[in-house]
Amino acid sequence: MIQVLPDPTMPDTRVNLFDLDRAGLEDFFENELGEKKFRAHQIMKWIHHRYVTEFADMTDLGKALRAKLEERAKVHVPQVIFDKESADGTQKWLLGMDPENAIETVYIPEKSRGTLCVSSQVGCALNCQFCSTATQGFNRNLTTAEIIGQVWVAARALGNVPHQQRRLTNVVMMGMGEPLMNFENVVRAMSIMRDDLGYGLANKRVTLSTAGMVPMIDQLSEVADVSLAVSLHAPNDELRTELVPLNRKYPIQELMASCVRYAKRKKGTSVTFEYTLMKGVNDQPEHARQLAKLMRQFDNAVQMKDAAKVNLIPFNPFPGTRFERSEEEDIRHFQTLLMQNKVLTMVRRTRGDDIDAACGQLKGQVMDRTRRNAEFRKTLQDNNVPPAA
Ligand code: SAH
Repeated sequence: MIQVLPDPTMPDTRVNLFDLDRAGLEDFFENELGEKKFRAHQIMKWIHHRYVTEFADMTDLGKALRAKLEERAKVHVPQVIFDKESADGTQKWLLGMDPENAIETVYIPEKSRGTLCVSSQVGCALNCQFCSTATQGFNRNLTTAEIIGQVWVAARALGNVPHQQRRLTNVVMMGMGEPLMNFENVVRAMSIMRDDLGYGLANKRVTLSTAGMVPMIDQLSEVADVSLAVSLHAPNDELRTELVPLNRKYPIQELMASCVRYAKRKKGTSVTFEYTLMKGVNDQPEHARQLAKLMRQFDNAVQMKDAAKVNLIPFNPFPGTRFERSEEEDIRHFQTLLMQNKVLTMVRRTRGDDIDAACGQLKGQVMDRTRRNAEFRKTLQDNNVPPAA
C-alpha cells in the first residue's frame, strides 16, 4: 500500500503514543481526537500485546479514525542496532534512541522467571566510582517512549521464541542511569509495565533501583506501587561517600529512614539493599557486621521480619577500573556473617559477562557534540546501520 511520508521540512508534531500511559491515552482520545475512551484501550492492546505499530494494520479501528491517527500520532519504536546472546542465555540489545545516543537493555533468563534490566538515562550523573556507566558522564534523560520501548523490543523478540520458555516476567530499573532523577518518565513507563493493557506485570515484579535519592523515594511511595531496591554498597558514611558520592547529600541514616517510610507505606513489602563486593574495599568481616546491624535496625523500625533483604553482587570489572572482584572465600564468609545475624542474604551470580551485560558493565554508546566517537561509528558500520546525517 502507499504510505504518505511526513514532509521532512516540517517539524514532526505528531504525538508518539509510546509516551502515553492509559490515563494519558484516554485523555488524548477524548479531548484531542473527540473519540470514545475505549479506543485508547484498543490501541494499547495493538501496541503492547500484539506489537503492531502501523495504524493501517489496526483493523478494528474505523477508516476515519485511522486517518486521523496518521495525521496526529505515531508509534515510534527504538532502533535495534544489534542484539547479542551470551553463552548463559542472557541477551543484550543496543538500541538507538536518536542519531547520537544508544543505550543497552539486558534480558536475564532464570529457571522460574525472566528479568529485563531497563535503562532510564543515557549515561548517569552520579559518578559512583565502581560503575562503568559513570565513566561516560550524563547525556540526557530517556523519554517514557524510550523506556517502554525497551520493554516492547524485548517482549516482542521473546514472544517469537517457541514454547515460551524465555518469558518476560520481571522488570528491574537497573540499567543505565538513576531512575529517580528521571522521575515522571520512569513512573509513567512503570505504569504501562504494570497495566493489564500494557505488560500486565504484578507490582512486586517491577523493581526500581536507586543510589539513594531520598526525597524522590518518598515521592515514589505516594505515586507508584513497585518494589524498591537501594544501592547501599557500604555500611558507614565515610566509605559510602567515597564509593557513592551522592551519600554526601543523603547520608546513610537519612536514606535508611526514607526506606523505612517506604516499607511502612507499602505494608508487607521488603526493601532490597544491593551491595557490590569489591576486594579489600568493602568486603571485610567488620563491614558485614556493620551492615547486619543496619539491616536489623531496619527490620525493627518496620516491625517486620526480613523487611530488609541483602543482594550481594560480586564486582564486575570493566576497562580502566581500579577495583577488583572479591575472592570467592570472602564473598561466602560475608554472606555467612550476615545470615548468622539473621539477615536474608542472596549472592547475585554474574550473568552475561561474556557480552558485557553484567551489572555495572552497561555503558551504551554516545557521540560527543562534535560527532566524534570511533566506537559508535564502527558499531553502526558493523551492523549496517547508516549514521544519520
Ligand atoms: N542508579 C541506580 C540504577 C543502576 S542499578 C542505582 O544505583 O541503583 C545497577 C546496580 O548495579 C546498582 O546496584 C549498582 O550499584 C550496581 N553496580 C554498578 N556497577 C557495578 C559493577 N561494576 N559491578 C557490580 N555491580 C555494579
